[in-house]
Amino acid sequence: MKSKTANSVNCSTCRDHQYVVSNKKGKVQATACKCFDCELCQGTGRILAEGADGISRISECQCADFNKKLKLFNQAGIPGKFVHESLGNFEVATPRHRLLKDALSHSRTFIKEFIQMKGQYSQGLIFMGEPGLGKTHLAVSIIKELILAHGVECKFVDFFELLRDIRHGYGEDISESEFMDPYVDVKVLVIDELAKGRNTEWELTILDHFISARYNDDDKVTLVTTNFRDKLDSGIGTEDSKKLSNASTRYTLEEKIGPRIFSRLMEMCKKVYLQGKDFRSERV
Ligand SMILES: [Zn+2]
Ligand SMILES: [Zn+2]
Repeated sequence: MKSKTANSVNCSTCRDHQYVVSNKKGKVQATACKCFDCELCQGTGRILAEGADGISRISECQCADFNKKLKLFNQAGIPGKFVHESLGNFEVATPRHRLLKDALSHSRTFIKEFIQMKGQYSQGLIFMGEPGLGKTHLAVSIIKELILAHGVECKFVDFFELLRDIRHGYGEDISESEFMDPYVDVKVLVIDELAKGRNTEWELTILDHFISARYNDDDKVTLVTTNFRDKLDSGIGTEDSKKLSNASTRYTLEEKIGPRIFSRLMEMCKKVYLQGKDFRSERV
């Protein structure tokens, strides 16, 4: 390993992460940096090694682990607009609310405990709060770190996109499960913007199937973001939030998704409230 000081990096392109991320066709993708150079396999991922019996066989190079992480990352379906988001650049400073700091620390604790328990950990997080506070930023940052630092299989699901695909699939005789299985089976799943939209009976049936399948499997961890809260008067409302008369202040999450899905989610996930000012409106 080359020597370096705390403030300098050997590769300015990747800041020594050995990979670079970019937004390709609306999804975040990672590729090995040009500085990543495996001398053992010259980048092929395979080496020819002689076994005890004197016969040479092709086997995986030790760099395969790195390449597997990049592959998992590229299959995670993280929306392109979150290309640079990480727990390290989540803003909590004043005048933002102290609950944002708590939300960040819950996220860090979650990763630490998940890794300590070697994945035998099933309680996820549900980030609740008004739009623009960084709920998805936190959820996406968690899975980025789980994948790239620890090689955990994670996915991000855009529920609206999934519903659209399922609907489209009916016309082509493709079963619902073909679209849902990759998300139902994945170790860690982010469900973004839960309860957004009309929540028709059909949509809730799909959601129920989806949540129940993950609920029944102890091995799965689900991270959820939603603009809705578990109760309307949670005691942490501010004048700002009371002035808003959007759907998220008029309905509870339970009213939006029904008691059965709601109670399962509450068992599956620890609640994390976010409160503060919408940073997107501050950036103007
Ligand atoms: Zn580099
Ligand atoms: Zn190699």
